[in-house]
Amino acid sequence: MRTKGIIVQKYGGSSVADPGKIMGVARRVAACGKKGYDVVVVVSALGGTTDELLDLAGQISKRPSERELDMLMSTGEQVSVALLAMALHNLGEEAISFTGAQVGIITDSTHTKAKIIDINTARIGKELKSGKIVIVAGFQGVNLDQDITTLGRGGSDMTAVALAKALKAKMCEIYTDVKGVYTADPRIVRGARKLDGISYEEMLEMASLGAQVMQARSMEVAGKFNVPVHVRSSFSKEEGTMITKEVKAMEDVLVRGVTANKDEAKVTVCDVPDKPGEASRMFERLAKADINVDMIIQNVSRRKATDISFTVPKKDLHKTRNVVEKAVREIGAGGVEYDENIAKVSVVGIGMRGHSGVAARMFSALASEKVNIKMISTSEIKISCVVGKKEADRAVKAIHRAFGLGKGVRKS
Ligand code: ASP
Ligand code: MG
Repeated sequence: MRTKGIIVQKYGGSSVADPGKIMGVARRVAACGKKGYDVVVVVSALGGTTDELLDLAGQISKRPSERELDMLMSTGEQVSVALLAMALHNLGEEAISFTGAQVGIITDSTHTKAKIIDINTARIGKELKSGKIVIVAGFQGVNLDQDITTLGRGGSDMTAVALAKALKAKMCEIYTDVKGVYTADPRIVRGARKLDGISYEEMLEMASLGAQVMQARSMEVAGKFNVPVHVRSSFSKEEGTMITKEVKAMEDVLVRGVTANKDEAKVTVCDVPDKPGEASRMFERLAKADINVDMIIQNVSRRKATDISFTVPKKDLHKTRNVVEKAVREIGAGGVEYDENIAKVSVVGIGMRGHSGVAARMFSALASEKVNIKMISTSEIKISCVVGKKEADRAVKAIHRAFGLGKGVRKS
């Protein structure tokens, strides 16, 4: 046992994409141990591996069993933990790798998006005590029947946060290929600024709305248990972004960041009979089919019929078609239209709570770029607009500018 406490470090797929990078990670991990911390490392599969495994499954079966998908996908992380352990041994460090099941990460049985229900930290504690660096496969656990489960895409973040909580770690460090969380995707907005800090709630929203950093669900757990998370680059020493509970000063900023999500499609059901119960029948069906409906709008009723539009993840569009087209016939609606060329552009900030005018400023930024708004939805700390996919980048840039989020600009 070293003296300074436990640090959980998580390395994403791009940080362990090849042997050279794995050696780099090993050096970083070893350095943390040398500083006097007990280190628990969570690793993702080598970059691209999980997608390749899913693709393989797709070549065998159109609808593979979810239990077997978990069996398959969990192998990716098993490769990377073993390689990292070997890399650490090369550096003369004592290290040992484990699967999720081996270190007692117990989940429910919702294959491909299981929830962690308990972690038995005895084994990890024992290995740390004997001076070893402990490496845990991210993204996976085991249910009470001993079946392997996975925690949803990006689930290694969840493993790291949950382990940090269970082990009462000093810090949960998330190493990735960007320097932290930005005001907007720096590949789209050149002047995007790295944030020093962001609240759990804001990060949860931004992750759900398309920011490519942090698994959204992991932020719910981090927030609930107040686990300090530091998102930083595995290729630089620079400090990244601290994710913490909200502090007063955070409210001074109206908008923390702007995101775009291009993975949704819009469905419009036309001429739905305007009677109680019709819409609910359709949405019940969608829920039963496990389709996550996001924005919903209903137009004012003309001639006793109304149009209802909603968005669904593009990957669920096929399932959605089957469900909706059946419902359309049943309830006697006029027809259905699909639009895959959309993007959802959002602003997020806890500062919005106490201020008005955020929506107006966002809409006028879009208007000045002649970007047409197709749908709008709001919550306490976010506003989202659906726009044409082609206009998404232009929309994000305009909004980023309108809220003065860029480098060298005073914060609004
Ligand atoms: N390898 C898994 C994925 O690609 C888990 C992770 O990277 O966090 O989703
Ligand atoms: Mg990942």
